[in-house]
Amino acid sequence: MTKRIIDKRYSDLKDTLKIDCEQCSGLCCVALYCMKTDGFPANKEAGIPCQYLRPDFRCDIHTTLKSKNLRGCLAYDCFGAGQKVTQNCFPIVDWKSNSNHGSKIFQVFQIVFQLHQMEWYLIEALSLPAAEALESDIKSLIWENERLTGLPAEEILHLDMESYRTDVNKILKQVSHIMAVNAKGKIDRDYFAQNFKHANLNHKDFSMALLIAADLEGCSLQGTNFLGADMRDTNIKNTDLSTSIFLTQMQINGARGNSKTILPAGISRPASWSADGA
Ligand code: SF4
Ligand code: SF4
Repeated sequence: MTKRIIDKRYSDLKDTLKIDCEQCSGLCCVALYCMKTDGFPANKEAGIPCQYLRPDFRCDIHTTLKSKNLRGCLAYDCFGAGQKVTQNCFPIVDWKSNSNHGSKIFQVFQIVFQLHQMEWYLIEALSLPAAEALESDIKSLIWENERLTGLPAEEILHLDMESYRTDVNKILKQVSHIMAVNAKGKIDRDYFAQNFKHANLNHKDFSMALLIAADLEGCSLQGTNFLGADMRDTNIKNTDLSTSIFLTQMQINGARGNSKTILPAGISRPASWSADGA
């Protein structure tokens, strides 16, 4: 399946959903609840800074996250919510300099994260030939999302997220339905550690599937749908994913690839991958 070339305005918007940690006050390292078993340094309550977050908001152990096997830190991706909230919503204060604002900043971060995540999926949907008939509804929701994330922080805190999420889910379900009709093969959801090596999985529906530690090395994955799939430790070495759909940066960060893994446009090669994928 060939993706449609989307208007530059939408590819530019998608670029703004990439993380830019240099422009952020380390929000994910403070705002989120973390579990050691999920690959973070320690169990931590939401709102408490990680012990390794430096005063300049950088990670003190950034270069050793891989050797320490901190997979949660390596995989996390905020869809650009961190820099948006730091630079646009609270340009004057940060969570450390004004502790009264801390919890408000973290709440806004969680809301903007959800909005950016939905916007990413909507822009991805826009590039699918199967969603052509829904194009104008998808575009309206994207611009509504831009309007919402551009509101002042106080208004973001009082957004009717349920209503917007319902509208987005309705459209994405319609897209998924069209994709499922076109999908090939039996639809299952549990592929834990399954060996698919070199299989033809073109147009297979892996949406919401458990692909933890599954082996997709060398598979043919044209138009394969990975919407919401759990890809922690999935082997994608020597695999062409360039035309796979709904693959997010967080999924790729959590998977095991190498220099021969070909990624979809707009997804960056994780710095933690070595050339041979070891
Ligand atoms: S919240 Fe996002 S931009 Fe900020 S440090 Fe975390 S990943 Fe980077
Ligand atoms: S170890 Fe580093 S990246 Fe991970 S939560 Fe702590 S400061 Fe953030």
